[in-house]
Amino acid sequence: MKLGELKALLQARGLAPRHHLGQNFLIDPALLAAIPKDAGVQAGQPVMEVGPGYGALTESLLHAGARVLAVELDRGLASWLRERLAPAMEAGHLQVVEGDVLGDRGRFHPEVEAWWDRNQTPLVVSNLPYGISGPFLSRLPQRSLLGACLLLQREMAERAAAATRGGALSPLAVRLSLRFEVQLGRKVPRQVFWPRPEVESSFLHLRPRQDGLQSAEDQALEPVLRFAFGQRRKRLLPRLRREFPQWAALLESLGVEEEWRPEKISAKLWMQALKGLES
Ligand code: SAM
Repeated sequence: MKLGELKALLQARGLAPRHHLGQNFLIDPALLAAIPKDAGVQAGQPVMEVGPGYGALTESLLHAGARVLAVELDRGLASWLRERLAPAMEAGHLQVVEGDVLGDRGRFHPEVEAWWDRNQTPLVVSNLPYGISGPFLSRLPQRSLLGACLLLQREMAERAAAATRGGALSPLAVRLSLRFEVQLGRKVPRQVFWPRPEVESSFLHLRPRQDGLQSAEDQALEPVLRFAFGQRRKRLLPRLRREFPQWAALLESLGVEEEWRPEKISAKLWMQALKGLES
């Protein structure tokens, strides 16, 4: 859809881009066509799309043969999407969930949970709203998925890929790297969006690692990492001994020194400690 047409149709429905919902729509046809290929979408593949908006990327995914679950929080956009893509819904190729993709206590929206149970290992493809990137990404290591192709604020994408690229570690970067091959994808210029965002964007690609942690292992690691990075300026071992003594002993036996701050502990060391705890 041309930008002028999009503006006119939004206006006719009494809609306008909502900044607080991260509504920056993709308007570059070449990029929209490339995303399903980059994500590895195959015909018949179940794909979850977070925040379809009026459906530009959704159409591209459907064109590639995906079976799409699209989760949209904005009621006006969800209703327009259902009208625009009614034939795909009638054909059973598209399901639209209206609501917040983030459910309670680390879960997704109940309809997403039910869909995920039925579809086992879907792909996740999204031009993610910036406001939910962190909590959304932090739910993925506890999921079974074929892969993810996500467009994010560049700074967020770089932080998520830090364990692979050598940036500042965080619980999220460690957890993602232990479960997935994490690859920082191409940079995307601001002019592919309308309205143009104030920040730069990049793709982030996730593929499950052959030797990656199981979701239950991630569940055991997550609270320890959260505690460890809760005070990242402080020495780790003295704090860890009080709350997670077994972890402190294991990390010490792996060569972690008294003075080390949490950022100095590599993802690999965290994994070795976890494996030590299990054995
Ligand atoms: N996919 C469209 C595109 O690429 O043009 C729109 C992407 S826009 C960056 C993000 C979309 O996510 C918006 O449509 C917004 O309403 C929706 N959104 C924001 N927060 C959401 C949430 N918590 N759950 C589901 N959708 C959300």
